[in-house]
This record gives sequence, structure tokens and C-alpha cells, in this order.
Amino acid sequence: MNSEPCQWNKLPADIWTGTGVFRYGVSDISPVDETAVLHYRQWIARHRHGTMQYMERYAEVRDNPHLLLEGAESIISCAIPYHTPLAGCAISSYALGDDYHEVVRNRLETVAERVRGLFGGETRVCVDTAPIRERYWAVRAGLGFIGINNQLIIPGAGSYFFLGEILTTVRLKPTAPLPDHMDCGRCGRCVRACPTRAIMGDGSIDTSRCLSYLTIEHKGDLPEGTDLHGCLYGCDTCARVCPHNAHPPTDILPEFTPRPAVAALTAAQATELTQEQFSTMMRHSAIKRTKLTGLQRNAQSILKQQS
Ligand code: SF4
Ligand code: SF4
Repeated sequence: MNSEPCQWNKLPADIWTGTGVFRYGVSDISPVDETAVLHYRQWIARHRHGTMQYMERYAEVRDNPHLLLEGAESIISCAIPYHTPLAGCAISSYALGDDYHEVVRNRLETVAERVRGLFGGETRVCVDTAPIRERYWAVRAGLGFIGINNQLIIPGAGSYFFLGEILTTVRLKPTAPLPDHMDCGRCGRCVRACPTRAIMGDGSIDTSRCLSYLTIEHKGDLPEGTDLHGCLYGCDTCARVCPHNAHPPTDILPEFTPRPAVAALTAAQATELTQEQFSTMMRHSAIKRTKLTGLQRNAQSILKQQS
């Protein structure tokens, strides 16, 4: 019988002060379970990832976060809200303010520093920049469940959240997963509302049809006959119709306040932007990911559909 005293460390509540983190959960690190690995491999084998070749790479790291930080013991999954009530905008609400990669990283680096100050050890912060299965770990930590729209849904708070992770070599007390019965049930609103029928019956997304993918990640010309349904950058439809998003948290970080010029941008205006205007308007914005050429490709496609 193991008589060693419990070595779990617990995060104090004040570690989150001023960071914008709405909810967090902790998982102990072990390789990703076989079913989840198999699902991912099948999704890649069916070419559901479109032209996102990077999703094929670093499979061994994606399946084993120990390879991201030597000696890692725990993952802290964090959710930071971003929703603002702007209807009819052609740009996805997550991209209306400052780039979450920068904002969330800065906030989580503050938490990581506090973790090191309290418990010692090493940390690594990931915000969509490392091959880590962020929703898998968020579910394991009891942060929420995966909806049919493939988004992490936090019960009572919805899916308008950025996720970020802090890996630490310190053993933290894991939080409990949600009960199995917490899921989408038979709602199906997102499946019916998706303009391109990208949400498959098995709950996976055919990314190559998804407007978020096509407007942001797809490289080169859009496939023949593409209808972007007015989306200049990203798509919020499956999140907007989800009943779990009826009452999203309203207390967002000031950096995520929508920029008026970005929120009001139309397809016609986007086609007229010069490089200098684009660079100024999209400074510290996630939208610079498409570059001006990508945004204008989308704008021209929308205008062609409307003509
Ligand atoms: S983001 Fe838009 S296109 Fe993609 S699955 Fe959701 S509703 Fe469909
Ligand atoms: S709209 Fe319905 S089916 Fe889709 S994610 Fe939300 S609860 Fe699940």
C-alpha cells in the first residue's frame, strides 16, 4: 500500500486576478486516449482539413504533450470570453478586437509566472501556436463538452471563448470532467443553420466546406462556385444559433472590444483598401492572417455572388 502523502498542489483563487480567465480546469498529463487519436487520424485521412497541411504534422506531439515540455505533469486549460453583441457583421466576432494570440498569451504568461512563483518548476503557454489538442484537454479538465458544431461549450456560458493552455512541471490537483449526460442532446440547430452543410451527421466538420476555413485558412483561389454567404472573415452562424450561447458572459477584456472600422467593414470597402490602410486597420488584429490579398479575394467573391 502506498503510504506517501498526497503531493497535489492547488491553484489559489487569486491567481486569476486581472487575467480575464472566466473558467479553468486542470488535467494530469498522459498520452491522448486511443479513440481520440483514431478520430483525428481518420479526419485527416478523409482530407477534412482542406489545405491546412500543418494539421498533418507533429502527430506524435499532438498525441503526447510531454513532448511540448519536458517533465510536464499538468495542463491548465483556460477559457477567456470575447463575445460582443454585434449582429450582421461580416467579420467573425472573435476577430473584431485585438489578436487573441497576443492578448491571451500575455494574460496566461502572467498566470504562468504566478504558478512558478508559488510552486517552482517550468511552464509553457500555448495559444493556438503549438500542436496541442486544446478542446480534448479542456474536456478532460471538465471545462465543458464538445458540441455538434465542434466547439467547446461551457454549460451555462456557451462557446464564445478563447482557449489557452499552461503546461507545468508541477503536479496540480486535477479538476473533474463533466458528467457524461452533459452534451448537445438532439438540438441540431447548428446543423440546419450551417449555410454550406459543413457539419456532418457524425458530429465532425468538413472543414473544406466551412466558411471559417475558406475565408481564413484556404490558400489561393476559392473553389469554383463558392458562395461565402456574405462572410468576409470567419463565420459565426453555428455559434449564434446555439441555445448555449443565449447568455454569454459580457465581461470581456478591453482588448477584445470591437474596433468600429473593422466591425463596419463591407465587402465593397474591403476591395478598395490599400496595403497601407489594411496594415493600419489590422495592426495587432487576427485578420492580418489572411493578408490584404486574402481579404480582397473574399470581398470580390461576395460581390460577385451579389451581382
Ligand atoms: S462556421 Fe459557419 S460554415 Fe463553418 S460549420 Fe459553422 S455555420 Fe457552418
Ligand atoms: S446548436 Fe444544438 S446541436 Fe449545435 S452545438 Fe448547439 S446545442 Fe449542440
